[in-house]
Amino acid sequence: MLRLTDIKLPLDHDEQALELAILSKLNISKSELLSFDLFKRGYDARNNRNIQLIYTLDVEVEKQEELLAQFSRDPHVRVTPDMRYKFVAQAPTDLTHRPVVVGLGPCGLFAALILAQMGFKPIILERGKAVRERTKDTFGFWRKQELNPESNVQFGEGGAGTFSDGKLYSQVKDRKHYGRKVLHEFVVAGAPEEIMYVSKPHIGTFKLVNMVEKMREQIIALGGEFRFSTRVEKLDLEADNKNHKIKGLYLSGGDYISCKQVILAIGHSARDTFTALYEQGVYIEAKPFSIGFRIEHEQSMIDHSRFGDNIGNPILGAADYKLVHHCKNGRTVYSFCMCPGGTVVAAASEPGRVVTNGMSQYSRHERNANSAIVVGVTPEEDYPGHPLAGIELQRSLEALAFTVGGENYHAPAQLIGDFLTGQPSAEIGVVKPSYTPGITLTDLSKVVPDYVTHAIREAIPAFDRQIKGFAKQDGLLTGVETRTSSPICIKRGADYQSVNVHGLYPAGEGAGYAGGIWSAGIDGIRVAEAVALAIAGDAS
Ligand code: FAD
Repeated sequence: MLRLTDIKLPLDHDEQALELAILSKLNISKSELLSFDLFKRGYDARNNRNIQLIYTLDVEVEKQEELLAQFSRDPHVRVTPDMRYKFVAQAPTDLTHRPVVVGLGPCGLFAALILAQMGFKPIILERGKAVRERTKDTFGFWRKQELNPESNVQFGEGGAGTFSDGKLYSQVKDRKHYGRKVLHEFVVAGAPEEIMYVSKPHIGTFKLVNMVEKMREQIIALGGEFRFSTRVEKLDLEADNKNHKIKGLYLSGGDYISCKQVILAIGHSARDTFTALYEQGVYIEAKPFSIGFRIEHEQSMIDHSRFGDNIGNPILGAADYKLVHHCKNGRTVYSFCMCPGGTVVAAASEPGRVVTNGMSQYSRHERNANSAIVVGVTPEEDYPGHPLAGIELQRSLEALAFTVGGENYHAPAQLIGDFLTGQPSAEIGVVKPSYTPGITLTDLSKVVPDYVTHAIREAIPAFDRQIKGFAKQDGLLTGVETRTSSPICIKRGADYQSVNVHGLYPAGEGAGYAGGIWSAGIDGIRVAEAVALAIAGDAS
């Protein structure tokens, strides 16, 4: 098959146009084109009066070799790569030590699935509850301000992205096409087929809940075992030359599990576990992350700015955006985790703290658009001296937001116009806050360091030059956004094991090796393969 990339057609093209575009591109007759499949469809809306759809197509033709030679200088005509997933090992029949996966976010879920599919019968430990019960706790917190520190937006089956927009893309390098495996397994578990071919797929909250359950059923059918409400508290280590090696895990409730291979996929909010690991000598470094606010506008304003008269076109859906501004003070401000037609959510996992994030349903039909507007921070400049100092910075900002919000989990908020001019807000405008439990209008400069306030004050007017109305008085900022990525990296070597604990495989976002659902799933596959090869190697 040949893969044709960058085939551009107008948004309103008719059904025949794709076939005609292929014939014209390859300069062949209809009879020479045997079949074609849609691989990817994106769009270019930079000129909203002439929005173009951009296709990647796999085509079966007569005389493929001749065409390849003819187009050898054209990077948009190539042989279709083989992207099918191939298992790297099979579990030995006399499997003596089952691998353990800690954490059931997308990283742990995919690690467990791949291990199960190769016959390794993983044991999965998750501190939170199964997804249905967890959903009740999470929505309970949003409605009644009762936080369960073990069952919330961050913790529980499905991990941090379960109540999210379910965006499934990132800029990670994926040379082995593991991302296709992630998408394929999601479709098997009930995700819409379109995630295989749209360039920026998303699933939305409620679909994810069902999918996670289906994937659990598959893993159990393959011999995997799940233990919910089971928190890993400490590693059992033994000396291994100058380093350590895993012997087992101490669990909440006083249980113990003996094991040789542990995939540690605990996400970016497992602060207590990070501390325990650090105290046991697991090598950890501080890493950069970002802090700031959630911004909300009316979705119709964003749609109008991005799509003009094409608003409502079903191919385009609700508009998103991605913005970056380099400030005079050397900081970079950018939009992150944009949720079209969604809501701002309370994402705390510790009592007495306020953290924002965003989610949407698959339909993205809510009134507001939201995204994080955040400023990059680094250990060198902003939290030097200790590998866990970034966590303390996050905690102090979240605690301050809790206090300023009124100590009832209401989040501090301010109208954009007032934030830009430095006045506390007194009244909500056109944009109604979507955050529950609720907001407290205030002066947001009180809850973040000055450099964050200055940088965001400079960035928002710059963003307004790209999206007209972005800096409008009535838009809303809610804070604080601190869990953009992990503030630490649990260093691993080329064999995916901790650099000083043999048998410990730090993985996913919490360990600093992923950012987002899709890349966490990809990292889960990578690490599962490393574990499978290690066990198969030991057995041979
Ligand atoms: P996590 O998903 O954080 O999973 C870690 C799991 O480990 C948790 O279930 C936790 O309970 C468990 N755990 C922690 N400590 C222990 C322990 N000691 N013992 C046992 N279990 C433990 N990303 C996107 O790509 N698209 C989006 O649209 C998106 N929206 C988001 C919306 C919200 C509200 C949030 C909070 C995040 C969103 N993200 C989104 C980010 C995304 O969820 C994360 O990048 C992703 O979940 C990271 O996957 P992970 O498996 O590495 O960790």
